[in-house]
Amino acid sequence: MALLPILRFPDTRLHTVAAPVTIFDDSIRTLVRNLADTMYEAPGVGLAATQVNVHKQVIVIDVSEARNDLKVLINPRLLKADGIQFCEEGCLSVPGVYEEVQRALHVQVEAHDADGKLFLLEAQDLLAVCVQHEMDHLKGRVFVEYLSRMKQARIRQRIDKELRRKAA
Ligand code: ZN
Repeated sequence: MALLPILRFPDTRLHTVAAPVTIFDDSIRTLVRNLADTMYEAPGVGLAATQVNVHKQVIVIDVSEARNDLKVLINPRLLKADGIQFCEEGCLSVPGVYEEVQRALHVQVEAHDADGKLFLLEAQDLLAVCVQHEMDHLKGRVFVEYLSRMKQARIRQRIDKELRRKAA
């Protein structure tokens, strides 16, 4: 098992746009396994490669109670999005921050699995939120950037204070 260090907001590397995967080889399968290990250990419900400073379009998600329903989305493409939901989101790159964000209620996504096989994913509720949140990471976007400037400033202040406390 390999755990990968997770970049913390406001690290500018989180703004990197991920490149599509073109070759589905052992290095991709190892990346997927390490991402999954890191997500389960954290614990979190989703992790994008961007968050571990690997700028490839690879996402792992598991929103199941039993933590036994791993979804791997490589080069995900949004085909359909409809409806609206508001969900309190958190992020392993922004620990301790939970804020409500508006998302589509249903999404339909096409993606490759770890072996390169194309599949269709229909998602709603929490899974749909998670898919949208992680796909944002691949575009270099962190969920707190949807919040008001005031809320973002407060989050940065809190993070700065924590960093200073740790450094002291
Ligand atoms: Zn996140």
